[in-house]
Amino acid sequence: MTFSLSPLPAGRQALPCDRRGEGRSLRLATEVRGISILTFGSQWDKLVRSKSCSVGIYCRRDGYWPSTNRALQFDKRRKGAPVGIKAVRGFNDVLPDEIGKWQYVEKTAREVFEGFGFSEIRIPILEPTELFSRGIGEATDIVEKEMYTFTDRSGNSLTLRPEATASMARAYLEHQLYTFDPVAKLYCIGPMFRYERPQKGRYRQFYQIDAEVFGVENPMADAEVIVMLIYFLKKVGLEKLELQINSLGDRVCRPRYREELKKFFTSKSFQLCEDCQRRLQTNPLRIFDCKVETCQAAIADAPKVSDFICLECQKHFDKVKEYLEMAGLTYILNPRMVRGLDYYTRTAFEVVSYQLGSQNAVTGGGRYDNLFQEIGGLDIPGIGFAIGMERLVSLLPKEKEFVLRPHLFVAALGEGPLKEAYRIINQLHLAEVRAELDYESKSLKSQMRRADKLKARYALILGEEELKKGKAVLRNMETKSQEEIPMANLLETLKSKIL
Ligand code: AMP
Repeated sequence: MTFSLSPLPAGRQALPCDRRGEGRSLRLATEVRGISILTFGSQWDKLVRSKSCSVGIYCRRDGYWPSTNRALQFDKRRKGAPVGIKAVRGFNDVLPDEIGKWQYVEKTAREVFEGFGFSEIRIPILEPTELFSRGIGEATDIVEKEMYTFTDRSGNSLTLRPEATASMARAYLEHQLYTFDPVAKLYCIGPMFRYERPQKGRYRQFYQIDAEVFGVENPMADAEVIVMLIYFLKKVGLEKLELQINSLGDRVCRPRYREELKKFFTSKSFQLCEDCQRRLQTNPLRIFDCKVETCQAAIADAPKVSDFICLECQKHFDKVKEYLEMAGLTYILNPRMVRGLDYYTRTAFEVVSYQLGSQNAVTGGGRYDNLFQEIGGLDIPGIGFAIGMERLVSLLPKEKEFVLRPHLFVAALGEGPLKEAYRIINQLHLAEVRAELDYESKSLKSQMRRADKLKARYALILGEEELKKGKAVLRNMETKSQEEIPMANLLETLKSKIL
């Protein structure tokens, strides 16, 4: 395993190096804010403790670590990474070696969703704060403490969108999409912003793929979006997923359940954490989302929403289950799943992956028949879901290749061949052949090394001698076999051999 060495996070102290670490095998335990944290087999007396992680960081005086022989060699070559300006905590770069996965997921989502009759919509990243405080609900974690809200130069309160459903509903109302067809099937892909405590699978800027159906009350729509979701997740290659569903009741039956919950948790209030004490007053359903052990113990005996839902909600839920079964989907009933946003009514669902650790939900969704009224006064039902991109990407099959490899690496030896290579590579690019060139015309060995590193499938070698003969050498980088090919009609010959 190779490590890249990182400077210590600001404010953290580097302790003197103790050479006992050298030569010992270290294990990459985790990464915190881009800092690799290594664990040792035994206890160390000179550790720097990371606040966000219980394992120690053993580091060198200059702030670089770890002190394995291999890492030290690497360190010498790098001579210390520049500290410079870093990305905001919880905001991530998606680097070129990862982007292939993202593009693959987005492309598959577009194909699948459009096949199910959905159209893409692009909505702004900034919205009036009121959209979310009214739509998502004042008493939710998102609105209470997670929104990036600021006042602009004209004094308007604006918020970086923490989710997309409310914005999509706003766009549907604002542009009166219902006048064209009351049923709208929309999807959008983009970043969301929540000021949460960053950890693996939870970030402050994260991407979601959202799909929503507006204007259909029929439970068939609930089942249809779930079927589409599961089909999509399987198509991108996810396995070992579990679909969990629940019904949260509606405006008729939920208030009674809420009251029961309030009574129940009041009797257990000594067990509740500070946050849940507050939730007990503002929104007792939120207590179900709490991960604190004593709260979990209290939750175990709490009344179930399924015992309180009214006949209409029960009928709706029974139909959803029937339609899911008709589509051959298996599901688990999870009466404790309430979802984090206030606007959900009736059907709620999550897809969880047991590969993901504590942040195991890949997708969450549900029906929200009151959202439109909250934000615009019209009575329009809706159902949809949001998939977390980072979590989804982390589950993609490891063996699948997502990075586009060059078809061809053009290696030129000398000035004349380099010019010729430039002419050829331009033609190749215009013919949409992925080709790379070494601009410095270095030694053949170094160019072949680079071709290997880029995982080029073929290399075209142009030397003075070959050019004089009107020939070039085509090398298969996998089998290492080579052949001479004529320069006349080179583009056609290359296309037929390498594409
Ligand atoms: P929600 O909008 O809260 O229903 O979340 C829908 C999905 O978005 C979740 O199942 C996660 O996969 C993903 N998600 C939500 N919050 C975060 C976050 N802070 N960081 C990364 N992914 C998230």
